[in-house]
Amino acid sequence: MKVSKKESNVYWNPIIETLPMEKLRDLQFMKFKKILEWAYKRSKFHRRLYQEAGLKPGDIKTFEDVAKVPKVEKSMMMDIQRKDPFPYGEALCVPLEEVTEFRQTSGTTGTPIYQPDTWQDWEWWSEAWAYLLYAQGYRKTDRVFLPFGYNIFVAFWAGHYAAEKIGCEVVPGGVLDTEARILKIQELRATAMMATPTYVLGMADTARKKLGIDPARDLSIRKITCAGEPGASIPSTKQRMEEAWGAKVYDHVGATEVGAWGFECTAQPGGLHVNEALFLVHLEDIETGETIEKPGRKGKIIITALDRIAQPCIRFDSKDVAEWSKDPCPCGRTFRLIRGGVVGRADDITKIKGVLVAPSAIEEVVHSIKGLSDEFEVVVTKKGDLDDITLKIEILPDEERNREAILVQLKDQLRLKTNLGYNIEVHPYNSLPRYEVKAKRFKDLRKKCE
Ligand SMILES: [Zn+2]
Repeated sequence: MKVSKKESNVYWNPIIETLPMEKLRDLQFMKFKKILEWAYKRSKFHRRLYQEAGLKPGDIKTFEDVAKVPKVEKSMMMDIQRKDPFPYGEALCVPLEEVTEFRQTSGTTGTPIYQPDTWQDWEWWSEAWAYLLYAQGYRKTDRVFLPFGYNIFVAFWAGHYAAEKIGCEVVPGGVLDTEARILKIQELRATAMMATPTYVLGMADTARKKLGIDPARDLSIRKITCAGEPGASIPSTKQRMEEAWGAKVYDHVGATEVGAWGFECTAQPGGLHVNEALFLVHLEDIETGETIEKPGRKGKIIITALDRIAQPCIRFDSKDVAEWSKDPCPCGRTFRLIRGGVVGRADDITKIKGVLVAPSAIEEVVHSIKGLSDEFEVVVTKKGDLDDITLKIEILPDEERNREAILVQLKDQLRLKTNLGYNIEVHPYNSLPRYEVKAKRFKDLRKKCE
């Protein structure tokens, strides 16, 4: 099919984003072999990993062979860092003086991982973000506001550079507090912004309560790019954000050690495209490790950044869980879709009373009920041998009269969607913790109770 001039305006890279699948696989395989060879030659860590598995880069002859390459886990990176060359250690593949960017992971699951990038890597970061922002409708005419603290975490740094690369006007809303950020958005008539779902909802709340500003009516933000939490792929949370801001809300996934590897497009197909120009993603059965090619089964995401050179990311076990979508996206991109975004972390999807539960399923229910506030908390404890699960919620002040009906609806929906019964605790409005960036709403205290 010929791409017309008008259609070509939909894609950041009209050729690669519409490449037939076989050609995309060829391109990915060629790049995979190159980065594997690169790491084998230059990183002591990777060479040791592959030698121990009896594997040389030359053994990878077909696309299927990729699954034979050993995976890298975050814990392995912790062991090799802070050593020579300080502070990155044995996975560094370039001379230290080539490194131009330092970032680190947040360390919520242990010691933070340091992430070096060269200037070439940094350009690659912004290229990955340019694909996603362009797919979400960012253009030269946009004025993009970034309400985020620019610091050692990568967060929206690359989004900033990519928006500039596309030609948008970028306003860094760094050290301002939430109220000052909202007033700046209003003053400058910003048209787009990027933030975590928790902060998008928190900002709207502050605007209404403290400033008497209704973001949907009084501000001109029409596109919001989310990251850091799955909220923008949870339908009820997405709807809350879109209604609060009168804007389209789009999801994106990425990680410090990986890059920005997946994005939602303006077609909002109920899933995320894997950026297959720059990444190779395998889904793997959580128990058997078997590669999942077909829709209908959830698996762990194993991911390779095909062009990142300073500290390569080759078959990284992200511990995130997703499933392939069965339908192609109406936008015409041939990049595969994962259905409903990242549905959870392999670590977070826990068994409660013998039932597998993803925290995002509880969020979906709470945010689908109109009379409840955005905040909630889930606490799992052990009483004797039995798991006990408490859900703390807040009822909106003007919905108090419907309290009984709201609680009945909540209990029914929870049982239906998560197969569990909960102790429901209603807390006074505005009393549950509010989070600035990422929320910590799921607390599993069972180990401490033992
Ligand atoms: Zn699409």
